[in-house]
Amino acid sequence: MTPIPLPQSDPGNLHAELTRLNSQMLAIQHELEKKNAELERLAYYDTLTGLLNRRAILEKLDGWLRHVRRYGGRLAVAMLDIDHFKLVNDNYGHRIGDRVLSEMADLMRRSIRTTDSVGRYGGEEFLFILPNTDAAGASIMAERIRAAIEGTPMHDASGGSFRTTVSLGAAEYCSGDDEDLLIGRADSALYRAKDLGRNRVVVSACPPSDSSNAATPTSTR
Ligand code: GH3
Ligand code: MG
Ligand code: MG
Repeated sequence: MTPIPLPQSDPGNLHAELTRLNSQMLAIQHELEKKNAELERLAYYDTLTGLLNRRAILEKLDGWLRHVRRYGGRLAVAMLDIDHFKLVNDNYGHRIGDRVLSEMADLMRRSIRTTDSVGRYGGEEFLFILPNTDAAGASIMAERIRAAIEGTPMHDASGGSFRTTVSLGAAEYCSGDDEDLLIGRADSALYRAKDLGRNRVVVSACPPSDSSNAATPTSTR
């Protein structure tokens, strides 16, 4: 928005009035810019955890899938789900549950590479995108996050502490994968991790030839 040019002479105090209007206009412009930035933040970030929201992390995944399809290279995703999170809410209350989500999100953010992304995929489910990473690399990264969360005490309202664990299912990109197939395999691996007793990582790797989408799940614990 360009300020209105002021006249040299000042008949009827016009100069003062235009100055006032100019600064009013600049203030409105500043307010609009702030509101737009806030709208953009709300559109892409989860308000509780500050991580990318579901829509934003899926947009990122779409971008990476296009990239590997076009230029080749490795890509993996990992789905994390908090173990028995309903019990955390039941035992300590919803507010402490929210705090656990937020603290875990900080831990996740700190545990990934700058080229990786993490977003809140659902209530207590998080999706990681790991570019240039195969099944072995995804397994290492997922296990690091699992162990970090297991080793980090959470705090209740009265200053006491308790432990929470997570399960992760990871999957590497196999040729022909689309978003649904890749996330679906990470999800299946996650369910397998839950079935095997929780607090563990299961990874779904492509077959050695990578000529089909059939994948072999392996558990790291
Ligand atoms: P599992 O180990 O099988 O994953 O068990 P679970 O209890 O974590 O799984 P379930 O899907 O039964 O429960 C998920 C819980 O997460 C229930 C829901 O109330 C809670 N939850 C989801 N979103 C939020 C949130 O934003 N804040 C809080 N405090 N709780 C949430
Ligand atoms: Mg869940
Ligand atoms: Mg859960």
